Amino acid sequence: MAEKRDYYEILGVARDTDAADIKKAYRKLAVKFHPDKNPGDPTAEEKFKELGEAYEALSDPDKRAAYDRYGHAAFSGAGGGRSGGGFHDPMDIFSQMFGGGFEEFFGGGGGGRKRSSGKQRGSDLRYDLEISLEEAAKGVEKELEIERYVPCESCGSKGSKSGGGVKTCTTCGGRGGVTRQAGIFLQQVTCPECRGAGETVSDPCPDCKGEGRVQRDSRIKLRIPAGVDTGTRLRSSGNGDAGVRGGAAGDLYVFLHVKDHDIFERDDADLFCEVPLPFSVAALGGELKVPSLDGQSSIKIPVGTQGGTVFRLRDKGMPSLSGGRRGDLHVRVQVEVPTKLNHEQQEKLRAFSESIGDHNSPMQEGFFQKAKRFFDL
Ligand SMILES: [Zn+2]
Ligand SMILES: [Zn+2]
Repeated sequence: MAEKRDYYEILGVARDTDAADIKKAYRKLAVKFHPDKNPGDPTAEEKFKELGEAYEALSDPDKRAAYDRYGHAAFSGAGGGRSGGGFHDPMDIFSQMFGGGFEEFFGGGGGGRKRSSGKQRGSDLRYDLEISLEEAAKGVEKELEIERYVPCESCGSKGSKSGGGVKTCTTCGGRGGVTRQAGIFLQQVTCPECRGAGETVSDPCPDCKGEGRVQRDSRIKLRIPAGVDTGTRLRSSGNGDAGVRGGAAGDLYVFLHVKDHDIFERDDADLFCEVPLPFSVAALGGELKVPSLDGQSSIKIPVGTQGGTVFRLRDKGMPSLSGGRRGDLHVRVQVEVPTKLNHEQQEKLRAFSESIGDHNSPMQEGFFQKAKRFFDL
């Protein structure tokens, strides 16, 4: 999956550009990449969506401030199930900005196409998904259960019972908006007759009330690639809400949360863990079995290993989402002192202690050297 692009970069503006110039930049690019101008070109559609998202963030002073401080992470906070409108349809942003004046930009005059006429795109949806560290390491296929709009089967998404009851709205002429006099101003408002759809349905389908879509619990399979982390956002194209009366479906955005692990801590692609080391092995050296995401690994413990020593196991960390090198596993050993010694063991340890005297403890010697003045009182 490609890295998310910087919003300023998407709009082609500097970070200190003022609001008016951001708006200008957005207008220019949005017109260029508008799907109506680039039929059948998925790259343009992609760019258009990206633009909408970037503009949505940078046109709002609060969101822009948050983005400046935290980057994309500013918008990846946790939240429950369905989005409460955190995501806007880029078409909505576009139409808010351009009002009913679409034709001026596309084709113009009589030959221009009408404002989306009823083919409203479905909303993008958000789903928060928790996965385990193992799943994040290996990748996993998940089935999500999500309530969303799906095309109405009774009317084949048309919204009309007979199939022929959909007519261009006579009140707004299909524009979806009407002009009203408000004091001395002329105001563009949503058409009260068709509520912005540009169409009316004379015999609405009883199952979908003329919308051409119904709400259902649906199951969506999602492939999660290896290497994802908390904050990774996956897009499942076309798995958002179905559009109104056959309009394009929105997308489903899945926000991932990787659960804390019992043993491993993660920092990007690197993993960290602490493993107890018997004190005899620490002194004598030997083999230590350590957990790893592949099951088990072992490390060679050199003679005289101190507690707190960190061993690095190359490529035993997390895989990289972008296909780069795997991370490492850092194992920190904790020398364990036995708590229950029988009489014989205690005797042997005493004998050992006497034989070793004061002269075989490099750390202790160094410490007493430094701390001498505390003991010489
Ligand atoms: Zn229907
Ligand atoms: Zn209307």
